[in-house]
Amino acid sequence: MDLLEYQGKQLFARHGLRVSSGEPVTTVEDAVRAAGELGYPVVVKAQVLVGGRGKAGGVKLAADEAEVREHAGSILGMDIHGHTVRTLWIEHASDIATEYYASVLLDRSAKQPLVMFSVEGGVDIEEVAENTPEKLIRHHVDALNGISREEAIEIATEGGADADVIEGVADALVALYEVWLQEDATLAEINPLIVTPEREVKALDAKVSLDGNALYRHPENQELSDAENEDPIERRAKEEGVQYVKLDGDIGILGNGAGLVMSTLDVVAQAGGSPANFLDAGGGSDAEKIKQAVQLILANDAVKAVLFNIFGGITRCDEVARGLIAAFEDLKPDVPFVVRLDGTNDVEGRRLLQEAALPNVYAARTMNEAAEKVVALAAGESVGAPA
Ligand code: GDP
Ligand code: MN
Repeated sequence: MDLLEYQGKQLFARHGLRVSSGEPVTTVEDAVRAAGELGYPVVVKAQVLVGGRGKAGGVKLAADEAEVREHAGSILGMDIHGHTVRTLWIEHASDIATEYYASVLLDRSAKQPLVMFSVEGGVDIEEVAENTPEKLIRHHVDALNGISREEAIEIATEGGADADVIEGVADALVALYEVWLQEDATLAEINPLIVTPEREVKALDAKVSLDGNALYRHPENQELSDAENEDPIERRAKEEGVQYVKLDGDIGILGNGAGLVMSTLDVVAQAGGSPANFLDAGGGSDAEKIKQAVQLILANDAVKAVLFNIFGGITRCDEVARGLIAAFEDLKPDVPFVVRLDGTNDVEGRRLLQEAALPNVYAARTMNEAAEKVVALAAGESVGAPA
């Protein structure tokens, strides 16, 4: 669960990280009022779940009321990499002497928390990692002991932080680690972590992802899930109890079992296609559930073709076929479907599909064949007659 910048900053403040005071607003009038209360100059910042807001024109300094009006007006409703801006964060502007970078995340391959620090902040950190990796300090922390202040001082020193702010940076790293650990975050990142001319160390931006599975331990964080910024199809899926994740491609995917769905995504990608979603129909999918799943997949306008990959076990292939036939009767989808049924009652399932003679459904025997067909269909190519 990704948090907006201002929500991340609220968590930071809880753990003693320095942040600027500010206010979230949704209208130009409220932006002007908040700016007046905070005192000029202010920064007007788009609150969307995507990076690079500054470059896209979603972060603007304002010296007076007229400028707040102008920037708030232009940023509200702005599209930033596909995300519409509905909320602004108005913050008292900081003077910046230096911009650093700091983050904490779990390094799965090392099975340890990883603290990263760089004096090359404010810029794209991937570029630093790529071009000047020696400037990005990567330090693994013993998960049982946590990070010590001495360790944090070493990281700041090794990274080349200015001598007079080593302590301040170390405090920030310890606090950031505490945020990551105690809030059950999967990522806690500050870019930039600034040093002001008064030599204060402060988080100017916040990127925090919380582990949704641990949310029950943090009732106070539950309201942070921002329904307005959540994908509407994912929200619907959650309400319906379907495991659905929206992706960027144009091939709808349905499988039963998370592992099978993940390998289906891989096989489609290998065949040169781009999946539009992850959808696990689960074990024992009955006809009604299949229909519901088809509706979810087709709710995404980007979908040009759909792949059903069912390995029958508890789930019976004939039930899936019935669900698909019912869904076609109701929904009359205008995109092609490729269906691979294997396992329990697969012969019966295929027979039902053949008898139904659905206009737009193609059969495939193997996963690879299915992937190749669906990729071709999504590209508008012909793959022979429907099943
Ligand atoms: P991002 O582009 O989405 O990462 O948004 P950031 O919150 O990191 O802001 C982008 C850039 O705007 C920062 O790297 C700063 O250079 C600048 N910026 C943000 N807040 C302030 C501020 O209070 N004062 C000044 N002078 N610049 C700021
Ligand atoms: Mn940033």
